[in-house]
Amino acid sequence: MDTLYERTNDPRAVIEADRAHVWHHLTQHKPFETVDPRIMVEGKGLRVWDIKGKEHIDAVSGGVWTVNVGYGRERIANAVRDNILKLCFWAGAQGTIPGAQFAERLIEKMPGLTRVYYSNSGSEANEKAWKMVRQISAKHHGGRKSKILYRDRDYHGTTLACLSAGGQQERNAMYGPFAPGFVQVPHCLEYQAGDQGGEGYGERAANAIEEVILREGPDTIGCLCLEPITAGGGIIVPPKGYWERVQEICRKHDILLHIDEVVCGLGRTGTWFGYQQYGIQPDIVTMAKGVASGYAAISCTVTTDRVFEMFKDDTDRLGYFRDISTFGGCTAGPAAAMENMAIIEEEGLVENSAAMGPYLQGKLRELMDRHACVGEVRGLGLFQGAELVSSRDTHEPLPEKQVQAVVADCLAQGVIIGASNRSMPGYNNTLLFAPSLVATKDDLDQIVGAVDGALGRVVG
Ligand code: PLP
Repeated sequence: MDTLYERTNDPRAVIEADRAHVWHHLTQHKPFETVDPRIMVEGKGLRVWDIKGKEHIDAVSGGVWTVNVGYGRERIANAVRDNILKLCFWAGAQGTIPGAQFAERLIEKMPGLTRVYYSNSGSEANEKAWKMVRQISAKHHGGRKSKILYRDRDYHGTTLACLSAGGQQERNAMYGPFAPGFVQVPHCLEYQAGDQGGEGYGERAANAIEEVILREGPDTIGCLCLEPITAGGGIIVPPKGYWERVQEICRKHDILLHIDEVVCGLGRTGTWFGYQQYGIQPDIVTMAKGVASGYAAISCTVTTDRVFEMFKDDTDRLGYFRDISTFGGCTAGPAAAMENMAIIEEEGLVENSAAMGPYLQGKLRELMDRHACVGEVRGLGLFQGAELVSSRDTHEPLPEKQVQAVVADCLAQGVIIGASNRSMPGYNNTLLFAPSLVATKDDLDQIVGAVDGALGRVVG
């Protein structure tokens, strides 16, 4: 194809400019002194080309599970173009047409929720949610219900408040001191739970959250924030009975349930939102990545009427939500999001995620017959993980170096997969798969075929 690479006059100059001046996310830069940084140039569907013309299958939707509708969507580009030419931006007390229209469309997918607050990133959306919780505490509970509970191994973003709610040690190391009022609760990974696993584990894992609540004092806690499926922490799908009990505990102690759908939202798990797999009713939902599939920056903090109504008191000068996100006023975000949602609907991508998820999981499970190091495969929809272990008996994690070598081998084959974050020593051993929701069986066969070869070469 006529790639942008072919139209780029001097790839070497681009690589050198990048090497000299770009500080890349989440990576060690020393290797770039001898190895060229990889510059991605063009994409179509779930294929991407780098500046040297190499084609890849992208099994991680832009590296961090974002491009749900795949690359090269002209109609999103056109919608963004039309809207920014008409009115690129307006922020503050007034609204915009795409802002109003997308909010209405989004709410249709989220029964029980009614209000959408716009910002630009997942971290920001979560911070907004917690500012709401804090303000509700100040206004309605004499400032007592201000604590925010978060879970071990969950990740909610990169700002200092988000890291204060960060359950992944290696993301947090050296960035403290952190904000007060954030309290960690235990996780629910049955595979690593040892004797604690088995029948009733889901309820027991939820009860462990209640133990923390009772220890801290229920009247000191404003919200519990959880990922529906823990993403970067290792694709952890909570066991049966977990969510029902979590909801019950929140209601019993008058604690708002905040679900972080930054990754799982917009079809990733085979339903519009991850929480909808479990029949629960959250009070606050945050989302970002798949909202506009990376075609524009947009995130949303979505609340119930009950939450919103608590900010409506015009007798109190400080009673309204005194928050702004300047670029939450860009029309590019909701314009792209509207078109993104229309594509998901028209092409049945939520349904495709629901259908292809079990196919991908089945193919990954077949690897267990050939590779003793594949300990467990888990996930929902097109969001799957394969936990690599040194021993299936003890579930001892495969050393990180080998896990990274598997990822690197796949990359050399032109297949980009991920691995769980370095959350805790020993917990960075899950291969991650989150291809665009347009993925077909053929695409998934190619992805798993590459992993098969890599495991054979790296682990033996
Ligand atoms: N929440 C979850 C579950 C995430 O995985 C991430 C990022 O990966 C965030 C929040 C933060 O989003 P952002 O990087 O857009 O700030």
